[in-house]
Amino acid sequence: METLADAPVKLKSHTLPELRKILKEYQKKCNLYRNGKNFGMGLYPSQVALEAFLDFVDTNYIYAGGGLGNPFEGVSEMEAESVRMMADVMHGNKDVVGNLTFGGTESNILGMQVARDYAREKRGIKHGNVVMPNTAHPSFIKACHLLDMDFVRTDITKDYKADVKAMRDAIDENTVALVSTCGTHTVGTIDDIGAIGKLADERGIWHHVDAAWGGFISCWLRMMGKYDIPPFDFSVPGVWSMTVDPHKMLFAMMPAGGILYKNADLQKYAFFDFADPMGVHGHYFTRTTAGSRTGGNIAAVYALLKYHGTDGYMKIAKKCMDLTYRLVEGVEGIPGLKVPIKPKMNLFAVESSTLNVEKISARMREKGWHGLYTTQVPPSFRVVVLPQNEPYVDAFLKDLKSIVAASKR
Ligand code: PLP
Repeated sequence: METLADAPVKLKSHTLPELRKILKEYQKKCNLYRNGKNFGMGLYPSQVALEAFLDFVDTNYIYAGGGLGNPFEGVSEMEAESVRMMADVMHGNKDVVGNLTFGGTESNILGMQVARDYAREKRGIKHGNVVMPNTAHPSFIKACHLLDMDFVRTDITKDYKADVKAMRDAIDENTVALVSTCGTHTVGTIDDIGAIGKLADERGIWHHVDAAWGGFISCWLRMMGKYDIPPFDFSVPGVWSMTVDPHKMLFAMMPAGGILYKNADLQKYAFFDFADPMGVHGHYFTRTTAGSRTGGNIAAVYALLKYHGTDGYMKIAKKCMDLTYRLVEGVEGIPGLKVPIKPKMNLFAVESSTLNVEKISARMREKGWHGLYTTQVPPSFRVVVLPQNEPYVDAFLKDLKSIVAASKR
């Protein structure tokens, strides 16, 4: 008797036009980032990135990453050159090295893994903890969970920055890493990275800067000289590693993250090298968390850096800031709303102590405005401002004003 397990599973085949139609229907259910009414933290990759991605889509970084025999040397070289360019704009000296990853989460996990293993080897710490301000991205909590470490979340100041004294007080003999952020994902603040670096150096503790969002806008703004961006990168003594995400403000397609380390001796703690003593497997070697993955995103990052260069990215950064200031002025003109932190970058929170920000964000969504992520500290929704939002700034403010007025009635 034929059992269910033996019965052939018939998956219906479709013609390409049929398939296009199906996919279009699913696409309608996605608020794509190419839609300028999306004020979330996502970017539509440019043609330059898309073409480079496709050119290298059938390469595998696991080999380019250093496995035995490298059939994709071109990808390795593009990664090395991209990392060099990224390190240069982050004021890294020639010792700074790094890798392209799958995104901020992977880079933050790697940063914590390397800190843990460094402390294990150099300080004999068996069960480490990480000291991070409340504003540190949740990927650090995930990192501690995956890496079996404890964490201490410390208070923030009234301007939503790390309270360095609270961090100092939280350090104990098992602290393996301090975390700081350039561009918190909810309000866009930059911690006092200089002071945290000093603390890290005094105590011999790893200091990881999460510049996933803020890194690739702050660097250009700082170079332009007329924006108030404090030092946040390898120009600060006591920065050991940094997360910098090309799939954010470099405009690469997801997934494309980056991690930079102060030197190659520190980077080595991220490597996984398994030469199977039983000989069952070949040599397995990785420099980041993922195994097989396309080198397409490495090519995209490389192409973008080469295409835009510093001047191109400065122009984009200026446009983002001009739009941000226009939006902030408009929001502050709406009674009941305020922007608690004057934005240093193209991301700001809209707070209300009298109105329900969740409801305002939901009403805006009903009107087609997406990405207005809400939090309770402060009670606010977040606005991320990108060039594709330019044609929609006035309409956004008009709808926000009428929704706020209606919610007071
Ligand atoms: N760190 C910061 C400051 C972020 O803004 C984000 C994402 O928004 C991340 C880390 C995590 O990055 P990803 O979503 O690319 O993993």
